[in-house]
Amino acid sequence: MPEDHPHQAKKRRIRHFRPIFGQSRLPAMAADVPQTGLLALVDELLLSIIDQIDSRDTLCRLAASCRRFQGLTEPYIWRTLLVTNGDRARSIAAALDIREARSSYIQDLSIRYPDHSKDGIQELNHFIVLMDKLRHLTIESPCPNNSEWKDDVEFDGWTKIDYTTLLEALPKALKELDIGERLHAFPGCMPSNDSTTRTSQPAFLKALIRQADSLERLSHIGGATQHLPRKYSTFDDDSARLRHLSNLRSLSLGIETMLLTHLQRDDYPASLCELKVNDVSWANNLRGGPEDTLRHPGRVLRHCTEVVKGMSRPVDLSILFSNPNTEQILSTIPTANIALVLQSIIDGPLRTPMYTLSSLLRSSNRHLALLTSKFSSKHSYIPPYMYGEEVPFEERFYDANHFWRVCGVNFRVMDDEMFVEEVKKGPKMVCTPCRERLGRWECFNAGDGSSCIHCERDSRIDGRDVECVYDVDTVAWGNEVD
Ligand SMILES: [Zn+2]
Ligand SMILES: [Zn+2]
Repeated sequence: MPEDHPHQAKKRRIRHFRPIFGQSRLPAMAADVPQTGLLALVDELLLSIIDQIDSRDTLCRLAASCRRFQGLTEPYIWRTLLVTNGDRARSIAAALDIREARSSYIQDLSIRYPDHSKDGIQELNHFIVLMDKLRHLTIESPCPNNSEWKDDVEFDGWTKIDYTTLLEALPKALKELDIGERLHAFPGCMPSNDSTTRTSQPAFLKALIRQADSLERLSHIGGATQHLPRKYSTFDDDSARLRHLSNLRSLSLGIETMLLTHLQRDDYPASLCELKVNDVSWANNLRGGPEDTLRHPGRVLRHCTEVVKGMSRPVDLSILFSNPNTEQILSTIPTANIALVLQSIIDGPLRTPMYTLSSLLRSSNRHLALLTSKFSSKHSYIPPYMYGEEVPFEERFYDANHFWRVCGVNFRVMDDEMFVEEVKKGPKMVCTPCRERLGRWECFNAGDGSSCIHCERDSRIDGRDVECVYDVDTVAWGNEVD
C-alpha cells in the first residue's frame, strides 16, 4: 500500500538512478495525462518500490507497461546479466545497440556458454568495453574437459571473447576479477605456445594496471604447469608491477602463477592484506606416484615460505589444498615403524615445513591457515569452475592461533622438541587404549592426564568414544623403542 512506502524507503537505501527516459523525453505526456494509483507517486517513491522487486520477470512486465516505468526499471533489469548461449548474446547486443545508456546499467556480467551454443557470443565484444559501470565480470570459455573431446577429437572451442582487446579496453571500474587459464590439457587440446597470448606475461599485468584505482580482489590461475611459458626473469619494465594496483586488498593465486613471483620479489601494494595460494596446478600434475604425493604438501609449504621470506611486509596467508583428505596432507601420526621411512621420503618430519612457515608469519604478526576443498556431491572438479559445476566448500584444518593443532589433534607432545624434553623429566605415562592396541611406546601424551594423541585423534576424527586411563610405565624414557 502506498502509505507504507515512505517507511520502507527509510529502511532501505534508495539508489539514485536517473530516470532518463521517464522524465526527459516525456514531460508533455506526464503533464497531460492525469495519473492515479502508482503513477501518481513521485519517482523517488516508485524507485523505492522497484528496489524491493527481486523477480526479473516482474521488472520486465513493469517496464513493458508504460514508458515511465520502463525508464525507472531498466537500470534494475540490466544491472546483472547472465549469458549462457549465443542467441541470448545476440538479443542482448541488439537491445544495447538500440539504447546506448543500457550498457552503463550493467554492473555484473557473466558469460558462461557451452561450445555448441557459442555462435553469437562474439556480438558482445563490442559492448563490454562500453559498460563503464561494470564491477563484476565472469567470462568462461567452452571447457575441453567435456567428454566429446576425450576421443581424439580436435578441440576447437576457442573463446569468442577477445581477451586481449578486452583487458586493454575494460572500463576502469573493476573491483573484482577472477581470471584463470585451464589446467586440463591433452593431445589435440594444448594451451597456446605463443607466450604473448598467455596471462604469465608482463603484458597481462600492464593490462590490469588500467584497473589500478578500483581493483580490490584478484584471483588468478596461470594454467597447467607443464604448459606454462617460462617465467620472465627480469623485472625491468616498471609499468608491469603488481604494486601499481594501489587498492588491491586480496589476492588468490595458483602456486604456479607469475604473480606469486612478484610477491616473492617484494612487488605488491601496501594495501594488500591477504593472500590465498592454491596448490591445484601442482597437485594436478603429480605423476611420480605415492612418494611424490607424500612430498607434495612439504613442497607447497616450502615454496610459500620462500615467497613470504621475499616480502618485506608479509600478509595473512591461507593455503588451499585440493586434496580433500586432511589426514593425508599433514596430520598422519607416523607409527614408530614407518616414521623413519616416511621422514626419509619427505626430507624430514611431516609437519615441520608448516611450523616453519607459521612461525615466520607469526614473527610479523601475521597468520597462517591451511584449508582443504571438498565437494558435497560425489563429483569433483578442478578450477576454473564452469557453469553448472559445483564449487567446492573450504574446510580449515590448521589455524596458527592453535599452533600445534592439526585436524583437531594437538601434536605438541610429538612435534615440539623443547616441550617433549620437559615431558621427559616426569615419569613416562601410557594409556590403556594405546597399551592394548599399539604397544606402550606409541602413547604420546603430556604426562598431565590430558588426552594422548592417538585417543584424541580417534575421538575427533573417527568419532570413537575413547578415554585415556594412565599407568606409570615401568620402562624408562629413552628405552621405549627396542
Ligand atoms: Zn595413548
Ligand atoms: Zn590415550
